[in-house]
Amino acid sequence: MISFIGAGPGDPELLTIKGKKLIDAADVIVYAGSLVNPKVLCNAKPSAKIYNSALMNLDEVIDIMADAEKKGMKVARVHTGDPAIYGAHREQMDRLEALGIEFEVIPGVSSAFASAAVLKKEFTLPSVSQTVILTRMEGRTPMPPKEKLIDLARHNATMVIFLSIGFIDELSETLIEGGYKPETPVAVVYKASWPDQKIVIGDLTNIAEKVKEAKIEKTALTLVGDFLGKEYDLSKLYDKKFTTEFRKGTED
Ligand code: SAH
Repeated sequence: MISFIGAGPGDPELLTIKGKKLIDAADVIVYAGSLVNPKVLCNAKPSAKIYNSALMNLDEVIDIMADAEKKGMKVARVHTGDPAIYGAHREQMDRLEALGIEFEVIPGVSSAFASAAVLKKEFTLPSVSQTVILTRMEGRTPMPPKEKLIDLARHNATMVIFLSIGFIDELSETLIEGGYKPETPVAVVYKASWPDQKIVIGDLTNIAEKVKEAKIEKTALTLVGDFLGKEYDLSKLYDKKFTTEFRKGTED
C-alpha cells in the first residue's frame, strides 16, 4: 500500500496519529526534503529506505513507489502541510491509478491553519469575512487568467498567500490596487511551528519593508484581511438568544 501523508507545518507533533503510525511502519519513505521536518521521520524503522523527493523528478518518485509496492512493501509518501495544497500531489495519484496501484491519502495540518493558530486568529469572523482565499502569486507556475491577485482582491476576503514572499512589494501593491484599504492588516508567518518561527505584523503599506528588515525570503505565508483586526460581531452559534440544533435560546 502507498500512503500519501500530510506531515504538517513543521512541529513533528502536528502530525495525525494515523500519519505517524504509517510513517513508523513504512519500509520505504519518500519525503519532500525541502520543507518536511526530518524529525517527523525520527521513529522510522532502522531498515526503512528513505528518499528525499526534492532531489528527484516525477518519474523517479513513481518508479521507487511502484517498485516497492510491487514487492509488497509499505510506502509512505510524506508531503509538507496538507498534500492538497500546492503539493504536486494529483499528478502522482494519477500515475499510480494508471498503473493500477492502490493508494490512500492521510491529510495534514496545512501551514495556513498552523499560521492562524500561532497568530491566535480566526479566518472567518461574522461581519468581517466569511470566505478564505488560498492563493499564490505567479511564479514559474502561471496563474489561470481569472485568478489574478488583483481580481481576487476585490472581495476583501481573508487571504492566505503561499509561495510568494519573494514578491512581497508587488504583492502588497497589487492588493491595494485591487481594492483592499492600504491600512488592511497583514501578518507574515515564517516557518510556522518550527523553533525558528518568525511573525511580522504590519499593514499593506509597510509589510514589505518589515519583511525585508526581518530577512524573510522563503518558507513564509502572507495573511491579509481585517480578520487580523479587532472589530467583529459575535457569532450566532454561542448567542444566548439564538436557538441551535443543540441548544435552546433564552429570552432576557
Ligand atoms: N502543502 C503545504 C504547502 C506547500 S507549498 C501546506 O499545506 O502548507 C510551500 C509553501 O507553503 C511555502 O513557500 C510557504 O509559502 C508555505 N509554507 C509551508 N510550510 C510553512 C510553514 N511552516 N510556515 C509558513 N509557511 C509555510
